[in-house]
Amino acid sequence: MESRILRYMEQYDYENLVFCQERAVGLRAIIAIHDTTLGPATGGARMWTYATEWEAIEDALRLARGMTYKYAAAGVNLGGGKCVILGDPKRDKSEALFRSLGRFIDRLGGLYLTGEDVGTTLRDMEYIRMETPYVVTLPAAWGGAGPIAPATAFGVVQGMKACVEAVFGRQRLDGLRVVVQGLGAVGSEVVPLLLEEGAQVAVADIDPEKVQRLSAAYPVTVLDPQAVYDAEMDIFCPCALGGILNDDTIPRLKCRIVCGSANNQLRDEHHGALLEARGILYAPDYIVNAGGTIFDTDRFNPGGFQRERAMANVARIYETMAALIRLRDEEKLPMARAADLLAERRLAAVGQAKRLATRPERVPE
Ligand code: NAD
Repeated sequence: MESRILRYMEQYDYENLVFCQERAVGLRAIIAIHDTTLGPATGGARMWTYATEWEAIEDALRLARGMTYKYAAAGVNLGGGKCVILGDPKRDKSEALFRSLGRFIDRLGGLYLTGEDVGTTLRDMEYIRMETPYVVTLPAAWGGAGPIAPATAFGVVQGMKACVEAVFGRQRLDGLRVVVQGLGAVGSEVVPLLLEEGAQVAVADIDPEKVQRLSAAYPVTVLDPQAVYDAEMDIFCPCALGGILNDDTIPRLKCRIVCGSANNQLRDEHHGALLEARGILYAPDYIVNAGGTIFDTDRFNPGGFQRERAMANVARIYETMAALIRLRDEEKLPMARAADLLAERRLAAVGQAKRLATRPERVPE
């Protein structure tokens, strides 16, 4: 097992993997630090009922690497990290557990900055903040930008509009059929934005309460969660969990565009090429879901957090997406690879500049 982990870390150039355990409060968590070239490793804390320990490790590692690329491509000066907490967010949460995690994060001395993710909330972040200053996502009253999901949702729709322009030759979504998978913090905010754009929206969630709440508030069609991949649609908008674009689902998709917030949508790298081969434009997840992060980290910009500037930067996801589509056409690459290239070019350039800037003075002979 050990050699498998280290081999994986070596293959994708990870810096650290930290295991955190405190039996008294039931904490079992893993912090993965991928790359700190651009700044401290940053990424949310996810709480999930992982089937195995390896599944949790793999998720932390994959998500941390995703964050490196996301920040690099979005022009944010942070590195890639992620924390996963092994447990059921509906059953196992407590103040003591999050404070314990906060103390572990504090020990890292700023190497890793945390935030909200699947299964965690701003309330949980407040508990972590009681023990450490290294928390990015916080309520406004605690000095943070507040909920970030609305900005993430806005960014997804900006990216979708760039895709629609490339595929359908128009900017508005009038009459286009969009299926939204997952009605959590992001999905439930995406739906009204899509309706405002004139789209016909169908939704699915495994949580009947969320479906009920959303369908009571908006004119949407409800789909069975199992049926989303077979639905007749123009755009598929995955806003639930990762790995959903795979050998089983891709052949079933009847859409021209996949654009949603879920992290790590492609189960494997080759699934990006499989989508292209089916004539489906894939909006790389970490490009279109960067809105929350861009919004959230605006407080590191001059003058501290400014909502207007933050949202203007989120709107730039449209331009980034349009630039990516051009890069794909020029370099004849699948979209996912074009996005990686954009991020890798920035990491390499900044990494090089940093090495030059930090070169030690020559010691006089
Ligand atoms: P969330 O936990 O609030 O919502 C996820 C929703 O997906 C839940 O309602 C859940 O019931 C549903 N779901 C799970 N499995 C499903 C399935 N098989 N079919 C249909 N629905 C299913 O999470 P969120 O904050 O809305 O994030 C959604 C995705 O977007 C995640 O992958 C997350 O990592 C990513 N993301 C979120 C943000 C953000 O600002 N919250 C930012 C970037 C990326």
